[in-house]
Amino acid sequence: MKISVGHLYPEYLNIYADRGNIAVLFRRAAWRGHDLQVEAVGMGEAVEPGAHDLLYIGGGQDREQALVAHDIGLKGEALREAVAGGAACLAVCGGYQLLGGFYRDRLGVELPGAGVLPLHTVAGERRMIGDVLLECELEPGVRRTLAGFENHAGRTVLEPSAEPLGRVVAGFGNDGSSGFEGCRSGRVIGTYLHGPLLPRNPWLADWLLAQAISHRTGEEPAFQALEDALEGEAHSVSAGRARSRGGRASR
Ligand code: GLN
Repeated sequence: MKISVGHLYPEYLNIYADRGNIAVLFRRAAWRGHDLQVEAVGMGEAVEPGAHDLLYIGGGQDREQALVAHDIGLKGEALREAVAGGAACLAVCGGYQLLGGFYRDRLGVELPGAGVLPLHTVAGERRMIGDVLLECELEPGVRRTLAGFENHAGRTVLEPSAEPLGRVVAGFGNDGSSGFEGCRSGRVIGTYLHGPLLPRNPWLADWLLAQAISHRTGEEPAFQALEDALEGEAHSVSAGRARSRGGRASR
């Protein structure tokens, strides 16, 4: 089956090899006989609601975010329509911030966001850097962990009704004090976790692929398990490093 992916601003927002997330989605789809087709959606290019089963946006420094912010603001209505229509989405760090209402950068410049996620972000003085471990529950009763790496000045504040992606077991998370990280809204996942994220968290890659296929066919597939020993080892190493930081990273 063809799975269509819209990759937003790949030439601007691709810090810390976040492009590796696309490579993982491509391979895990192919190992199940599906054909992941990735289309770059750059500056000035329209997002066609319904055209993509999954949208992806990576991270970036304030400079790159400032270069794309006006454009993503213009794409906001189409992006909101796409996810309202059931498209899945993964947004990482700078891309996560730009899916919110706004990002006020280190210079105090307020960059418009796409208004897809109920949150906003304000850059603080001290960067939040290090390994992170989260506990997530995307489906009721199914608790799994996510391990990755964070490096952000942004403090993200979720609106009261917003659902975080996970509880911080170790690391800073959204703002270093709430105890939560990321944001989940239906099939949309926003997170600070780089690494890249998906090679060391294969369950999330499969969850995103299942959401993308459900957007296309109307039902979630039951994937056969893959041989994930190496991925499991990468997760354990990353989780171990995060735990060695202790509980929520001290200020
Ligand atoms: N520039 C943003 C910040 O510093 C995002 C950084 C990133 O994508 N790693 O918070």
